[in-house]
Formats: sequence, C-alpha cells, structure tokens
Amino acid sequence: MTVKRYSTFTEELRRRFGCRVQRVSLDAGFSCPNRDGRIGVGGCSFCNERGAAAVGVPVELPLTDQLQQSKEYLRHKFKAEKFIGYFQAYTNTYATAGHLRGLYEAVLQDPEVVGLIIGTRPDCLPEPVLALLAELHQKTYLWLELGMQTMHDRTLAAINRGHTHRSFVDAVRRCQAQGLRVCAHLILGLPGETREEMLSSVQELNRLGVDGVKLHHLHVLKGSQLEEEYRRGTLRLLGRAEYVQLVCDALELLDPRIMLHRLMGDGRSELVAPDWSRRKLEVLNLIDAELAKRNSRQGSRLSH
Ligand code: SF4
Repeated sequence: MTVKRYSTFTEELRRRFGCRVQRVSLDAGFSCPNRDGRIGVGGCSFCNERGAAAVGVPVELPLTDQLQQSKEYLRHKFKAEKFIGYFQAYTNTYATAGHLRGLYEAVLQDPEVVGLIIGTRPDCLPEPVLALLAELHQKTYLWLELGMQTMHDRTLAAINRGHTHRSFVDAVRRCQAQGLRVCAHLILGLPGETREEMLSSVQELNRLGVDGVKLHHLHVLKGSQLEEEYRRGTLRLLGRAEYVQLVCDALELLDPRIMLHRLMGDGRSELVAPDWSRRKLEVLNLIDAELAKRNSRQGSRLSH
C-alpha cells in the first residue's frame, strides 16, 4: 500500500483499532430544516431529495437491519472486522435529544460497532443535543461532521445553505468546548469562487483547529437546483486536472494535524456531471502522483 503524503482517517482507524474498520452509512429517516421550511426550502443547491444519503443503503429497512445488512457486505468486500455507524443522510441531529439517544444507542449496542460519525448542519446543535453528544463521546469513538462548505457568506447565500460562516464557527467552538472531534465538509469549485477564496477556506480550517476534513469537488446530482443551472449552461465545473492541482495546493496549506476523511465526492448513480468523477481511484492516484512530483506533502507550505 502506498504511504500517503497526507494523514488519512483510514490509517487513524487502523492505528487505533488494530484492524480494518469500515464506516456503515445509515439512513435514520431524518429530514432537513433547510428543506422542510424551518430554516429554508429547496435545500442546498448541490443536494437533492436524497439528502446526501449514500447509494446502496437499504433505506427500506429499520436502522438496526440496515446496519446488519451493510456490515455483511463490508465484511465480505473489505474484510472489515469492526464498524463505525455513520449517520449520513439528511440532518442527523434534527430531533429531540431523547429520540436521538434511542437511535444512536441502538447502533452502539452492536458489539462490533466501535464508534459513531454523525453528520449535521452547524445550526442544528441545540444544548440538549450537544450534551448528549458529549456524553456519548465519553463512551465511544465519536466524530461530528459539520457542513462548512466555504467560509464566504456570499457563496453560502448563493448555494442556499441557510446559515452564515459565523454559525459554523460558533458550532465548532461549542463542540470543541465539549471536547468533541469535528470533521468539516468543504466543497472546492463552488460557483463564483476564485482559487484564492477556496484556499482561504482551507486556511480557515487551520485557524479553527478542526480535527478532520472531507474535501469534495462540486458535482451536479439529478434533481438538484444545480442541475437546472448546469442544463442552462450557467454553471462552470472544475476539470479533473484543475481539481488535482487544487487539492494538492489545499493539502500543502493544511495543518498536518487535520485528518483527511475524504479527498473527493463519490461517483454516484445519480451523477449528472462532471463525468471524470465517476473514476475516483484515478483521481486519487493523480493526486498522489502530483504530490510526489512536487515532492510536497500535507502542510509543506505552512509557515511555522
Ligand atoms: S446538504 Fe444537508 S443541509 Fe443541505 S439540503 Fe442537503 S441534507 Fe439539508
């Protein structure tokens, strides 16, 4: 296996648990306040009605059956021995703390589950929910994934996120006060952003001291608002070579303490564009090759 020039979540899991650990994507039937009118309607422009759910999750099954079915698949495909329950679809803190406790604890009861990842919006963390997460953090290996997407409010408004960057900063600070591990989601290639603006969002992650990041390229999904812009010809997407350069630039500026949970979004059956993102492995290999060519690595352009 190639030694990566950036710190990966996969390696962290292997170090910590001494075996192959796989995330199990779950859909607990949540909604999203940016879809149901509580904060906004229509959702973020890059999201569709599946609410960022992973493809292949047997959503028709109850939560614990989803877990069992997906575990068997991952055990077979990756020889996984332990699992992390990944509450991925929609906004996974959008319920009362009591309801959430029931869902999270149902997954944690499985002896092969060693942790949880909970994906949510920064403006959906009321105090009782934060207290629940802090309690679970004492008992299990817990990550909170928070959508930042960009630090620029102009872009956040343009993509209909329904919150400002201030809201993200507040959420990170409140989570850090509880000792929670935070992984930020960041999208490269959002409409109207320059390379410098994207890289300033990367540097903002250093300033905030988050623990992990998921980088995504902007892609267009069927049924999203972006699809209409794309079909009208008013949306510019990054090319593959451009994305590879940008990710390498971002990695060189990123604090080596911040773990990379992902370097690009997944090619999905509902993808409209860009076509190159269907071949994820090729892109990841190109990123490795570019870092080797530059003889650089995560954090190598940081001034100490
Ligand atoms: S990306 Fe998340 S916050 Fe935005 S509409 Fe989709 S589920 Fe809601």
